[in-house]
Amino acid sequence: MSNEVSHDVRYDAIVIGVGGMGSATVYQLARRGLRVIGLEQHDIAHDRGSSHGVNRIIRLAYWEHPAYVPLLRRAYELWRELETGRGEQLLYTTGSLDAGRADSKTVVGSLRSCDIHELPHELLSAEDVKRRFPGYRLPPEMMAVFQPEGGFVLCERAIVNYVEAAIDLGAEITSRAASDVVGAASRAFVLSTRCVSSLQPRRSPRAFLWVSDLRASWIQNREVSPPPRGRRSGSNGSRLSPGG
Ligand SMILES: Cc1cc2nc3c(=O)[nH]c(=O)nc-3n(C[C@H](O)[C@H](O)[C@H](O)COP(=O)(O)OP(=O)(O)OC[C@H]3O[C@@H](n4cnc5c(N)ncnc54)[C@H](O)[C@@H]3O)c2cc1C
Repeated sequence: MSNEVSHDVRYDAIVIGVGGMGSATVYQLARRGLRVIGLEQHDIAHDRGSSHGVNRIIRLAYWEHPAYVPLLRRAYELWRELETGRGEQLLYTTGSLDAGRADSKTVVGSLRSCDIHELPHELLSAEDVKRRFPGYRLPPEMMAVFQPEGGFVLCERAIVNYVEAAIDLGAEITSRAASDVVGAASRAFVLSTRCVSSLQPRRSPRAFLWVSDLRASWIQNREVSPPPRGRRSGSNGSRLSPGG
């Protein structure tokens, strides 16, 4: 006989997946006063997602497209804000190199982002790179774009810090809870979570569809400033709970 119990809880927003993106999203929604839950199928920081491990390279001049640069600037600001609030360094600016042939997508794209967004940078020859960064030996036909603001982010620590900060603001985070959308009616949808432990209650969190008119009504009706620290919004208080 199953020990599972079921209960329905209504949220303003449900974030499925609490990795690098999800953890920041839960925090930002909680900061705006929303009743939010983050559901993660594994643990908070685990080794089966994209954000696993100690660090990830980061830089402002993305060669992929200059449109990323404003997003990156904002991400830098938000990591700095989080560091100040939590007292832990997460973003390290060490300088970074993007290397390739002069006509490669990497070098051309990187320089384009630097030019459009006036990012500090230096274009180095293979010989310059060898002199300044002796660990690297590029073939003579290659060059590198040096960006002083490049560096790395402690990705798993960033997740943990965003999650803890979100909980402080009243968010709920449930780990070991794989989730699927099982029903959608009108403008609401229902999720089913498969928890690891059958002793834990099976959750059926519900939230309205996040459409632009709903968002507009939120902004009209709610303060966008963060609620007081320690506010609790969940049915059972806000906890980092496995399989809840
Ligand atoms: C080896 C490697 C190296 C990389 N190096 C760099 C780098 O140096 N610089 C850089 O900028 N980027 C790098 N990337 C890319 C970067 O790490 C990813 O873009 C980023 O981590 C993605 O974050 P995410 O939150 O979208 O995904 P994830 O961190 O994977 O988060 C998604 C989460 O959703 C959970 N989930 C999925 N489905 C469900 C479900 N149904 N129910 C509940 N939970 C669910 C997963 O368990 C996971 O925790 C690298 C990626 C890899 C794999």
